Amino acid sequence: MLSFLRRNFRNLSISPLSAVFQIILFFLLSEPAYAGAVVTANPLATKVGMDILKKGGNAVDAGVGVQYVLGLVEPQSSGLGGGSFAIFYHKKSDELYAIDGREKAPKRIPYNFFEQYRGSRQGFFRLVTNPASVGVPGTPLLLEEMHARFGQLGWSELHDEPITLAAEGFPISPRLHVLIARDKFLKNNVDAKKYFFSGSNDNLIPKNVGIILKNPSYADVLAQFRDEGISTTFYKGKIMSNILSDLKKTAGTDFLHPDDFENYSVVFRKPLCGSYRNFRVCSMGPPSSGAITILQILGILENYELAKFKKNSPELIHLISEATYLSFLDRNSYLGDPDFVNIPIAQMLDKNYLKQRARLISLFEKIEQASPGKFKNVAEKSHYIDHSMNSTTHFVITDKWGNALSMTSSVESAFGSRIMSQGFILNNQLTDFSFRYKDDNGIKLQNSLEPEKRPLSSMSPTIIFDKDNNLFALLGSPGGKNIISYVLQTIVRLIDFDFHPTNAVSEPRFVNTGRGLILEKDKFSIEVIDRLKKIGHYDLKERKLFSGIHVIKVKKDKIQTYIETGVDPRREGMALIE
Ligand code: GLU
Repeated sequence: MLSFLRRNFRNLSISPLSAVFQIILFFLLSEPAYAGAVVTANPLATKVGMDILKKGGNAVDAGVGVQYVLGLVEPQSSGLGGGSFAIFYHKKSDELYAIDGREKAPKRIPYNFFEQYRGSRQGFFRLVTNPASVGVPGTPLLLEEMHARFGQLGWSELHDEPITLAAEGFPISPRLHVLIARDKFLKNNVDAKKYFFSGSNDNLIPKNVGIILKNPSYADVLAQFRDEGISTTFYKGKIMSNILSDLKKTAGTDFLHPDDFENYSVVFRKPLCGSYRNFRVCSMGPPSSGAITILQILGILENYELAKFKKNSPELIHLISEATYLSFLDRNSYLGDPDFVNIPIAQMLDKNYLKQRARLISLFEKIEQASPGKFKNVAEKSHYIDHSMNSTTHFVITDKWGNALSMTSSVESAFGSRIMSQGFILNNQLTDFSFRYKDDNGIKLQNSLEPEKRPLSSMSPTIIFDKDNNLFALLGSPGGKNIISYVLQTIVRLIDFDFHPTNAVSEPRFVNTGRGLILEKDKFSIEVIDRLKKIGHYDLKERKLFSGIHVIKVKKDKIQTYIETGVDPRREGMALIE
């Protein structure tokens, strides 16, 4: 560059204007064009996303390819048989979309059907592996509709790499192997048994790490998507009828019919945004509890100067745990599918209300017992703690146009209902409903099972903007209800402590979903644990906590924009910036 300048400015025969022009030309020609950034839970998926960006695709195009590959290589987490939420920032129009591809309950399911499975872990798993837990998948239609509205490349161009990968095979990853090996139910499904195990019936061997797994059925489904589209094949045609007949072959009760698929719709909702210090945090509102609960916790924490606390000090852990506990009381009482129930969102997020909640917290003593908040025009609701298992995946993508996609995708528990159809796993997302329909006083629960309702989720795809409305960060995580703690704590690390995303995602975790404080196993010192117990967390537990937080952070100074990424070390993800 310097020699270029010297050469040109010594030559006085060129005008200054032309010199400037040449300098610009130099940058255009010599700097490789920036394509974007992709962070997903699997290197193969990240690579396909990046290939699409480099071909001229945008974040949405890349998202389609990424999701196809994740469904193939990480079938325990998400896929065509599951549901998802995406927050998409469209730079050109400066619009933010919350796209709801959550599973829906069948029209003919009896409202009290889940009651019989209540009360025990065994009952819970009997329902998980029953066709009755399968909701109409939303992920495929979300991909098609998102692409139809925002995609840049042609639909068919997004399919080649995922199809080849499915047809030629991919190596089984360590995490996939471990999850196959420890699963009790997967071998009860004929297709899953053939796909994930070798050996004979009395000696089934989970396929090992590195073995190449080919999935021709999945390749065939993607080829149908490419050639005929998704709504005509998955929600009407052959793929749908194959799903229905695979469900019929499975022991249990099945309520899904063709009209459930035909009537399924993806909903373009408004993201829920709230201010936190100098930032605007936007995430998924109902039917996810993500945005409301995270914004409530942030609203409580805003009353404290968190940066003054030592990171991972017992006081900071206690404070965040208490704020999370209080917000979960409201979450478990008032949240549900907004198409079915009335949710006092504005009152729940009111800063004065959150200040009052903050006053319930003492830095020296754990709250013994608190109640959910009371809100105008909404009947008081019973507080109900339901189950949710850990699976799911989160990915984030930015492109050269400044668009940003933050998407969380799930089949609910690991391998969903364990029912495999045409190379993909069907979800058990309906177990995210409360198993009770009414409380002891006969009042219907907000998250009760109802025909055509979407179960309450915790998935929290998030996008954060700075005070000048510049993109600041994209993030999200798997982890069931723990997602809320994982995402919240990462936001605090990024904003209050100004962490690099790599450090933010690697920090020791702690969670509280209303059942007490849980610390990530072997990450906290005896002193910290003792102090927490002294404050009143006598029954705190230590557990392995498998967050899978993926972050893109956009950092600006006066001259340049830097992209930084964070890949959770607890999973198998990879980031690419090119
Ligand atoms: N079913 C959960 C939810 O929607 C997600 C499961 C998980 O993250 O593992 O909140």
